[in-house]
Amino acid sequence: MRIYRKELDSINSYKPGKPVEEVRRELGLDKVHKLASNECPFYPAYIRKAVNREVRNINQYPESGCFYLRDSLSRHLKVRKEQIVFGNGSDEIITLSLRAFIEAGDQVLVAYPTFLIYEIQARISGAGVVRVSLEDFGYSLRNMKKKICKNTKIIFIANPDNPSGTYVNHKELESFLLSIPAGILVYLDEAYFEFAPPDFPRSLDLLKKRGNLIVSRTFSKAYGLAGCRLGYAITTPAIARVLNKVREPFNVNRFAQAAALEALKNRKFLKKVIKHTEKEKEYFYSEFKKLNLPFVKSATNFVLVKWSADTAGIYNYLLKRGVIIRELRGWGFKNCFRVTVGKSSHNRAFIKLLRQYLSNRQTGRAKG
Ligand SMILES: *Cc1c(COP(=O)(O)O)cnc(C)c1O
Repeated sequence: MRIYRKELDSINSYKPGKPVEEVRRELGLDKVHKLASNECPFYPAYIRKAVNREVRNINQYPESGCFYLRDSLSRHLKVRKEQIVFGNGSDEIITLSLRAFIEAGDQVLVAYPTFLIYEIQARISGAGVVRVSLEDFGYSLRNMKKKICKNTKIIFIANPDNPSGTYVNHKELESFLLSIPAGILVYLDEAYFEFAPPDFPRSLDLLKKRGNLIVSRTFSKAYGLAGCRLGYAITTPAIARVLNKVREPFNVNRFAQAAALEALKNRKFLKKVIKHTEKEKEYFYSEFKKLNLPFVKSATNFVLVKWSADTAGIYNYLLKRGVIIRELRGWGFKNCFRVTVGKSSHNRAFIKLLRQYLSNRQTGRAKG
């Protein structure tokens, strides 16, 4: 007899990129390069001391309000402390928003395909989900606006988007925000904010013009702290208050708080990551062009590549040789894959294997 909620039967759980440990275990490989989850390829060594210091306090709960981190981040962003909500990754901010806003009969608007968590969590929360197709791998705000109805409660916008890497610029976003009903919450997911180009939306200015807005960012990508899980929302004090009501009191652990505080102090590491990403993206672009592989220009630390066939062949070829990329079948793109900018040597290893695979295919030699 099923006693859990019926809706859960039709919800697929999120399948993360294959972890390095798993590939080592399963394939017995020593060297594994993961270019699958948009993580930062470098270890932010400067956090070690601060995190070690926290080990001594492991028997005590962390501060619920992230006092020092909040103080530092509010100065860094020039927003009031009451405007910030911290989450166990920005994924949690998505969940908290749905928990605080969705009532029976409400709908959310999502692009299709886009970051999968919006739809999964929305359906768990009981919301109806309306999908709006991408146009040429980009968000169509015009089409999103057409799908708004009286039941629309939240619109999710990944900007820049994952897995396409495209973005909507300041002008487009501003006119969209000011043209839709004030009673709709717009959720702007800026997980790749640090990599974004100059005409990227100044979303904190937009927050002053239009209240019902949540901007979320994360320490997982450019800051290199994916392993300790820390994201945050910037919103109005009123929305921050309700998000805090539905938040668990100790959602951000001590190590995450300590590491992020150090990350805000150490701008050198961040600059290095951004510069490296730009340079290596250009390397990817030029190599893809040489290989006649179409790709989508990206405002993030990953690139979507359009493959001419199902990606299972290339995925497995790379996997067996220790390079993990991301297939996009789960997003409905069975002929595309996503590759994260890794360390220079790893990117070169990936390109070398890609070239080998393509030339084997051309000469009809066996794959695998
Ligand atoms: C990676 C990612 C996130 C989640 O990051 P957290 O690690 O949970 O902070 C959120 N949104 C998008 C679009 C992402 O790609």
